[in-house]
Amino acid sequence: MFKKILIANRGEIACRVAATARRMGVQTVAVYSDADARAKHVAVCDEAVHIGGSAPKDSYLRWERIIEAAQATGAQAIHPGYGFLSENEEFAQACQAAGLVFIGPPASAIQAMGLKAESKRLMEAANVPLVPGYHGADQDAALLKREADRIGYPVLIKASAGGGGKGMRAVERAEDFDAALASCKREAINSFGDDAVLIEKYVQRPRHIEIQVFGDTHGHCVYLFERDCSVQRRHQKVLEEAPAPGMTESLRRQMGEAAVAAARAVHYVGAGTVEFIVEQPGGYERPEEMKFYFMEMNTRLQVEHPVTEAITGLDLVEWQLRVAAGEPLPLAQEDLRIHGHAIEARICAENPDNQFLPATGQLAVYRKPACTSFERANGRDTGVAVRVDDGVREGDAISPFYDSMVAKLIVHGDTREQALARLDEALAQTHIVGLATNVQFLRLVARSASFAQARLDTALIPREQDVLFQQERVGLPLAAAAAVAHTLLRERASEGADPFSRRDGWRSHGLTERRFAFEFGGAQVPARLTYQHDGGLLLAVGEGAQAVSGALAFQGDAQGLELQFAGQRTRAAVYALGETDHVFTPQGATQIVSIDLLAHAGEDQSEGGRLTAPMPGKVVSFAVQAGDTVTKGQPLAVMEAMKMEHTIAAPADGVVQELLYAPGDQVAEGAELLTLSAA
Ligand code: ADP
Ligand code: ADP
Ligand code: MG
Repeated sequence: MFKKILIANRGEIACRVAATARRMGVQTVAVYSDADARAKHVAVCDEAVHIGGSAPKDSYLRWERIIEAAQATGAQAIHPGYGFLSENEEFAQACQAAGLVFIGPPASAIQAMGLKAESKRLMEAANVPLVPGYHGADQDAALLKREADRIGYPVLIKASAGGGGKGMRAVERAEDFDAALASCKREAINSFGDDAVLIEKYVQRPRHIEIQVFGDTHGHCVYLFERDCSVQRRHQKVLEEAPAPGMTESLRRQMGEAAVAAARAVHYVGAGTVEFIVEQPGGYERPEEMKFYFMEMNTRLQVEHPVTEAITGLDLVEWQLRVAAGEPLPLAQEDLRIHGHAIEARICAENPDNQFLPATGQLAVYRKPACTSFERANGRDTGVAVRVDDGVREGDAISPFYDSMVAKLIVHGDTREQALARLDEALAQTHIVGLATNVQFLRLVARSASFAQARLDTALIPREQDVLFQQERVGLPLAAAAAVAHTLLRERASEGADPFSRRDGWRSHGLTERRFAFEFGGAQVPARLTYQHDGGLLLAVGEGAQAVSGALAFQGDAQGLELQFAGQRTRAAVYALGETDHVFTPQGATQIVSIDLLAHAGEDQSEGGRLTAPMPGKVVSFAVQAGDTVTKGQPLAVMEAMKMEHTIAAPADGVVQELLYAPGDQVAEGAELLTLSAA
């Protein structure tokens, strides 16, 4: 086994790899960028080397620098994690040339699977089933159109070099094909430097089911069963689970064997994932009729590998290290078994209610559910319930430079139902304040009828949208009661226990009523608190017919509050950030703003003719030029941040005055992108 390895990545996956290395007695070297100087992954490794600026191209993608760091620290091997250099065959080759072991497949296998079109040609030869489509080298636009017509609409145009859900266009009708092709090629050349595309039949209501495979240098290759990653948004995974609900033994074996055939076709070594798109002609009720087609192979450890670890009781990073060190696979196919059910939720810094716009900022509060230890999660003990993999600590910042994933929450249970219940509880115990996250959204997805009943396909989120977006799980009365209780608790704490200085509950000077003003769900709400002679509190929230009033009682402290108001009773944790109270209850979370009644009303917030960047990122393109007349809602510019593109639309009719940046420019949040004058 290696004595020391370098981890060429950051965030949760770097921490994840380091944890296994530590358990195995292997020393670790972290690399880090300027932005990550104080990151968790640096702290958990034995040594760390600074490799450059914050942008990935200045640090985590600088492979010469990373190889130098490995040589300087005496590391014998490099683990690339996922993303960054993990699927870069030049890097794998350079490691080898420098006498370092690349913990991953041979460069030739990465290359063979790197382009979707070429990998499909190989898979065709290996008799792996493919989605009907065109994956030829000839890229003539007229030919591509003819192929799409032949395949039959709807079709999907995919960038051959694409990944991460980018570079795909679904085309419903023949007349839309040309425009979609042009826009797909544009995105492909900008994002991947290669505009070759392939065309596939757009499978209706498909499931995404992938197979974990593992090969070694002794010619063994096994499959570690499947993961269902059908719950997606923008073709990116949101929830992943194993095993796939409804999977039959026979289909599992067929898919497993097809995946092993795919891996063997490229002489695969190490951890890999073969992704299949699965058609359900028999609907959710007849899973035995599912038909699977090869989509692509990811030649690395996958984000969602922990669900496979949970159901097999294995540590896939340990297997990676053993295989890379030349050992044979620890187990043969017939030794592998599935225990129970596991689900992973990707916790991301983003706003689901605003088209999943990525969020940046500081994790002012970051509280995780109680976990079983990492060691236990990876032992053979399948009594594991909850695991959190993350690369951040409370107080850390989520910067615009990297992925928006904050943490992964993995739960395991004897049954899917038990795993789901644990997921709901663990998400309820995940308290993040300081930036928008998808935690509440994940709870709603997991609770939706489709997910709860395992009616899975990639359209689950759009189908359930009525119950997933803009949902307030905690009503105004309870939110206001929590905010009032929080204020009183803080006053008690700051005034001490001296009864003569206390302002609540006990009065000596006749003040018996206090007024509050809140902002909740965009509306202003007054509240009145009355101190009663017996020491009780009466609270009235709102005015007129909508007012809710009743006795307010609470005990405990802000983060462990037992609250009772107007016939409702709940546990709550309240965290204040500025004027906003963030309230977490078992039912859900909400925010309520306390308005200082003495302060002036807000100034005019209107932006006039200015159009500003909603987040830090890169300007991809402008859809207009100076002098253009635009109408309200018309797309003006496209920005990219954290793997996602965002269109900036005109807030009103007007004439474009000036473009203030050029495509490719990096801009700060709030930067003015262009000026618009009234039409
Ligand atoms: P999967 O492994 O399920 O196919 P994705 O394609 O969504 O998952 O995620 C892999 C992507 O994560 C990479 O392509 C990259 O954009 C991004 N990524 C790379 N490095 C990191 C990191 N250290 N932390 C979080 N995300 C990363
Ligand atoms: P990426 O490299 O971005 O991961 P994939 O080829 O793996 O690209 O596809 C990503 C997702 O797009 C899939 O998980 C699935 O939801 C959807 N998808 C891909 N191919 C098809 C298809 N032929 N029909 C319908 N949906 C598809
Ligand atoms: Mg994929």
